[in-house]
Amino acid sequence: MTDELFKQLPKMDQLINSPQLEGWSQVFPKQTIKDLCNQVLQETRQKIVHNEIDEVNILAIITEVDQKLEGKNQPSLKQVVNATGTVLHTNLGRSLISESIIKKLHTTSMHYSNLEYDIPEGRRGSRYDHVEELICELTGCEAALIVNNNAAGVMLLLSALLPNKEILVSRGELVEIGGSFRIPDVIESVGATLKEVGATNKTHLADYQRAISEETGAILRVHTSNYKIVGFADKPDDSDLVKLAHNHNIPAFNDLGSGSLLDLQEIGLPYEPTVSDTVKAGFDVVTFSGDKLLGGPQAGILVGKKEYIDQLKKHPLLRALRVDKFTIAALEYVLMEYRNPKTVFEKVLPLKLLSQSQECLEEKAMSLQESIQNIGKGYQTKLVAGNSQVGGGAYPGVKLPTTLVEVNHDSLSESVLERRLRLSKNHIIARISDGKIQFDVRTLIGDDIDRIADTLADII
Ligand SMILES: *Cc1c(COP(=O)(O)O)cnc(C)c1O
Repeated sequence: MTDELFKQLPKMDQLINSPQLEGWSQVFPKQTIKDLCNQVLQETRQKIVHNEIDEVNILAIITEVDQKLEGKNQPSLKQVVNATGTVLHTNLGRSLISESIIKKLHTTSMHYSNLEYDIPEGRRGSRYDHVEELICELTGCEAALIVNNNAAGVMLLLSALLPNKEILVSRGELVEIGGSFRIPDVIESVGATLKEVGATNKTHLADYQRAISEETGAILRVHTSNYKIVGFADKPDDSDLVKLAHNHNIPAFNDLGSGSLLDLQEIGLPYEPTVSDTVKAGFDVVTFSGDKLLGGPQAGILVGKKEYIDQLKKHPLLRALRVDKFTIAALEYVLMEYRNPKTVFEKVLPLKLLSQSQECLEEKAMSLQESIQNIGKGYQTKLVAGNSQVGGGAYPGVKLPTTLVEVNHDSLSESVLERRLRLSKNHIIARISDGKIQFDVRTLIGDDIDRIADTLADII
């Protein structure tokens, strides 16, 4: 019987030249297709040996190879539907950039540019010049520099200006952000020494004062991006801290993390110092991210006094942290939107998602609920009030009121539903709470509502 089945196994040519697989030779090298055929044939042989099958189904073998090739032909970086409501979701790609801005990048990609060319002078220019003036205009700083991300910005700042020196940081600000970026480790890694100041909940100006010595290189303030110390807690004002540093002839730096260009109280968020406020307080260098609240591409932006930024521009590490032309172009176009306060909340997508009105969220929720009810198939839905998060290390603990569409099914558990939604071709990432799936409509954009409804209909 086993021998009989082995004889029925198709030949390689028969598989490769079958109508179903033939087309793949336009996409993959022949060897890749052969390897996958061999893999499926080998699996079939194993099944024969273990008496798991009693006939060889050639069509099934071809279909399996076809599916494997199809899988291989998909990009690894996929579109997903963010139904979590977290606007700056680091795992899901953080900031979105609007179509009108991305369209402008076509020119950058398909034409040569003056990336490092000084047109008036007809000679080599600097890629760092392009957005500097605009950043200065928007933040009130003297000079600015762009690097890969804010983590790189902090590394560059500390390694260029402070090796072998002590850096004073409050014990309340020894932050760890995702991806093992920890302030104490970063300071150590650049060869500087961390000097902890004050207590976790309270650090007074006098604590900084006492800690200053001959060895002190700078005072570093770090935004507590992803946690909040509440209760019996205090820290000196930015401007008092800067004055203290300057009275001792040392610089004061601020890792702002998210760093908003706008005061977001206007859309109902609590006050956080903006980049301009922080520059105005007198910090010598302030660093922040391009793809958090700013709403641009991944980048780290350093702003501050010219004498310090100029030193950073000359540091050899900068070459390793330099940004490409797409980052520069996207950042420039996003920043230009900030010149118009009337349209910035429409054009910069994270700001748009954060500033949606309750009516707008309710409307979206009702539309999703209706689409799901139309499916039938055993789904029950309910609208409930809930909260979204800003995310991306911004406004920790702040709850943004939103409307959730809660879904459960007659016979499928919430964990099975969640898994099927996630693994479906639309890759829908939802929340689970109280035995129900929850879709937070805040982060649903474009045709996401249709995608969710179509997927729910498909997965039963
Ligand atoms: C997010 C964050 C960083 C890292 O910024 P990336 O742009 O993600 O590299 C550094 N410091 C603070 C305080 C942050 O919030």
